[in-house]
Amino acid sequence: MDTLYLVIPCYNEEDVLPETSKQLLCKISSLIEQKKINSKSRIVFVDDGSKDRTWEIISELHKNNPFFQGIKLSKNQGHQNALLAGLMTVKKYADAVISLDADLQDDIDAIDEMLDKYYDGCEIVYGVRNSRDTDSFMKKATAEGYYRSMKILGADVVFNHADYRLMSRKALDSLEDFHEVNLFLRGVVPMIGFKSDVVYYARKERLAGKSKYPLKKMLAFAWEGITSLTTKPIRMITVLGIVIFFVSFIMLIYSLVSYFAGTTITGWTSTIVSIWAIGGLQLFAIGIVGEYIGKVYLETKARPKYFIDEYLDD
Ligand code: UDP
Ligand code: MG
Repeated sequence: MDTLYLVIPCYNEEDVLPETSKQLLCKISSLIEQKKINSKSRIVFVDDGSKDRTWEIISELHKNNPFFQGIKLSKNQGHQNALLAGLMTVKKYADAVISLDADLQDDIDAIDEMLDKYYDGCEIVYGVRNSRDTDSFMKKATAEGYYRSMKILGADVVFNHADYRLMSRKALDSLEDFHEVNLFLRGVVPMIGFKSDVVYYARKERLAGKSKYPLKKMLAFAWEGITSLTTKPIRMITVLGIVIFFVSFIMLIYSLVSYFAGTTITGWTSTIVSIWAIGGLQLFAIGIVGEYIGKVYLETKARPKYFIDEYLDD
């Protein structure tokens, strides 16, 4: 029987916390009763600099029941950083940690299945939503389009997986070796590797309160995901430069043909060819400079180069 910690980042969640804490306590108690986890398991709320009564509620919960713990950040640091703070703080006490949102949009009954996979030897279990019925058409289209473009851009993300996942202590120790300042956890976690699996669940409506991710924050988050994970956009500039430079050869032939056909005015041929050639060369040159900047960027991230899964020694 292992120790399970639940980590829940909270930003202005006074509306949902009473209900969330009740449901989570119920879940944890039933798991302990079924002997799936031991009684050292805990529910940890991370207050991400809330401006409402979130911290008071967390303190109250902790006072009344030792199963609840609270971590208060000095100010609002954003969902990803709050989550990381929680994970890194509890990892020394837990064998496995599950992260989930305070609004319980992620079905907590998937926790049972996550634990089964964990006991089967998985170090990471991703929660993947198999339906987006509760999302508006726009949200669904943009979100799914986003996951697809991430793949094209070379960022390895799990399709339709947000931040609902189980990680073993081994996986969390590996996560600690990433020193990313621009943090996009759902892109970084798959880089860890180890035996992993997915669990499907239906995503529900928010229990109460409003989404803490308005469109502006969501777009910023999406952009963060691409720019913090991959330098492929730079490669695209380089390729575009080369393509345009080749177009200049086609333009050269076309302009010469027009010139000899006598359908041009003086100076047009040389002007049009130079525009394409110089434009292409400039983009190509910017792309090359960008390639080096991209390398510098990746070097500064100093990502771990490998993780050892097993070592059969002696
Ligand atoms: N959250 C946070 N800090 C922030 C914004 C959000 O800790 O600056 C938390 C929030 O309390 C919730 C989770 O991140 O537990 C996801 O937010 P939300 O449910 O509002 O996002 P949505 O489901 O609408 O994408
Ligand atoms: Mg939500």
